[in-house]
Amino acid sequence: LFSGSVTFLKSAPSLEFLPPPTVPEIAFAGRSNVGKSSLLNALVGRRAIARTSVTPGRTQELNFFDVGDPPRFRVVDMPGYGFAKAPKDVVKKWRFLINDYLRGRVVLKRTLVLIDSRHGVKPVDLDVMKMLDEAAVSYRLVLTKADKIKASELERVADLTRAEARKHAAAFPDVIITSSEKRMGIDDLRGFVMDSISE
Ligand code: GDP
Repeated sequence: LFSGSVTFLKSAPSLEFLPPPTVPEIAFAGRSNVGKSSLLNALVGRRAIARTSVTPGRTQELNFFDVGDPPRFRVVDMPGYGFAKAPKDVVKKWRFLINDYLRGRVVLKRTLVLIDSRHGVKPVDLDVMKMLDEAAVSYRLVLTKADKIKASELERVADLTRAEARKHAAAFPDVIITSSEKRMGIDDLRGFVMDSISE
């Protein structure tokens, strides 16, 4: 399923640019620099996806990638949040876009919310989780860059993250622990995506 082609479909700066809702979608959200591009690349086994996050102007858009030919599902790269000192109107625009997408997208199956293992869940992550709870979009928390901290510390952060997940109506109670660098947790992630699109 993941070894097929991955093609960049389009970027949507606002709702009228969304592609037609023809296949299931799985969205990826997370603070800027959380390791989203790296994880998406590890997931689909190629580098094509990385391109968008380094393209100026693309960072505040929803990016759609078709997986498979013909497409079996779509990966949606949600713009990063929590960037330092972003102008108020940028943040506002981001909130509108994400809220509208989450609430109106019938083909959106699940969202993965990426959390840096070194930092754990931050207020900006809680903000997104609240948006997901309110939009009734089920989501799973994914710890990234697990190779960056000691095993004992990782365990502590994972426990705290699970405890947080259990407080949220739309969140899965368990977390997926990953490292794109060490290819850790990638099979779990793939399994979760497969289950999500076949439901
Ligand atoms: P994005 O801004 O969320 O798309 O983040 P990137 O995927 O571009 O990653 C941000 C930085 O973290 C880059 O310098 C990556 O090389 C690094 N990074 C990403 N994933 C991992 C990981 O699993 N382990 C380690 N050690 N570094 C990572």
